[in-house]
Amino acid sequence: QAYLDAIASANGALNAYIAVTDEKALSMAKASDERLAAGKGGALEGIPLGIKDLFATEGVHTQACSHILDGFKPKYESTVTQNLWDDGAVMLGKLNMDEFAMGSSNETSYYGPVINPWRAEGSNQQLVPGGSSGGSAAAVAAHLCAGATATDTGGSIRQPAAFTGTVGIKPTYGRCSRWGTVAFASSLDQAGPIARDVCDAAILLKSMASVDAKDTTSVDLPVPDYEASLGQSLKGMKIGIPKEYRVDGMPEEIEKLWQQGIAWLKDAGAEIVDITLPHTKYALPAYYIVAPAEASSNLARYDGVRYGLRVDGKDITDMYEKTRAAGFGKEVKRRIMIGTYVLSAGYYDAYYLQAQKVRTLIKRDFEEVFHAGVDAILTPATPSSAFGVADENLAADPVAMYLNDIFTVTVNMAGLPGIAVPAGLDRKGLPLGLQLIGKPFEEETLFKTAHVIE
Ligand code: GLN
Repeated sequence: QAYLDAIASANGALNAYIAVTDEKALSMAKASDERLAAGKGGALEGIPLGIKDLFATEGVHTQACSHILDGFKPKYESTVTQNLWDDGAVMLGKLNMDEFAMGSSNETSYYGPVINPWRAEGSNQQLVPGGSSGGSAAAVAAHLCAGATATDTGGSIRQPAAFTGTVGIKPTYGRCSRWGTVAFASSLDQAGPIARDVCDAAILLKSMASVDAKDTTSVDLPVPDYEASLGQSLKGMKIGIPKEYRVDGMPEEIEKLWQQGIAWLKDAGAEIVDITLPHTKYALPAYYIVAPAEASSNLARYDGVRYGLRVDGKDITDMYEKTRAAGFGKEVKRRIMIGTYVLSAGYYDAYYLQAQKVRTLIKRDFEEVFHAGVDAILTPATPSSAFGVADENLAADPVAMYLNDIFTVTVNMAGLPGIAVPAGLDRKGLPLGLQLIGKPFEEETLFKTAHVIE
């Protein structure tokens, strides 16, 4: 009830929730109380969570913040959310996000932008919370839930976490089931938590992760007790610092933050080594071919017949066209057009196939570094702190918006785990995050290292 009250008083200004499931929350909480009174109870008993609108929740608004899914209430529950409920968690509602998780500012949502609860010192300018999991990050930062689910295709957990002073982890591809999560780019999408600290993120991921017969890319590996790794020594660990992440025009304070992080890890006993990931500069262009290609294919199913919105036409083709024209927003249409183009005969070899090859090279860069004994890689999480809502330069130039993902997309391209952890404030008093990248399925290393930084 306290969380529902907080949502009622603060959500108007933040627009983090697009649906609040009051009754469901209270009845789930009651059931939780009863289990506890009976001496039972799971790892998350009674913990109130917000759920990104990308996760299918049975009988509850699930629209990926798109107009095309108007009125869609699935008859099934995503595996990740089911895992949380099975451990006793309580659902507060559905969280705002960029439409179909395409964006870095949460401004492409059909439901309007999410407002970051942070302000620069002495300023009242509204800032974005990052995207696409902007609602998740803002809700966690503003205490409108104890933790939230999120997804990350190119940075959508880590960038909003960094912009809001929260912790977000994208686990290894395959750690969480994608079943029941609206697909954006299936070979890159992963679910993960956004939480107030590393410990909460560790507890939430433990519950979210599982192998799942309904997602053949989920991996059958034991899910460790991540919380147990917190507080362990970093002695004997090697942390790599990739020179390619020192990008042109990177603000001095980001560099300073990075150096501060290095010093903290050194103090905790880790050895710091310079490394090279030579194909880093191709990651962003390759991502913006692979992700739209997969998106154009995944979004073909929204045809006005099976889900949500239908705009009638004079025949079926006309109905498809009218529905898709009215249902998808500008950024989603841009991705469908790019994706369709790079997959079409004559262009496939030049773009999509090339991008897939580049992806392999990016993956190999990481493999070599890990093979040489590096345990984790430390980088900034974002090239800046949160920027203003409706920034004119970004609105006019989608590529400038895509540059937000410069430090995060490589991790998705290589399928690796990555965590963003708050590391300080910039000179405007806004949060900045550092990112740790780990070996496949070694999320524990990220949690214990991030715990030293937070
Ligand atoms: N900002 C990136 C994009 O728009 C990443 C989004 C995501 O991780 N879902 O594609």
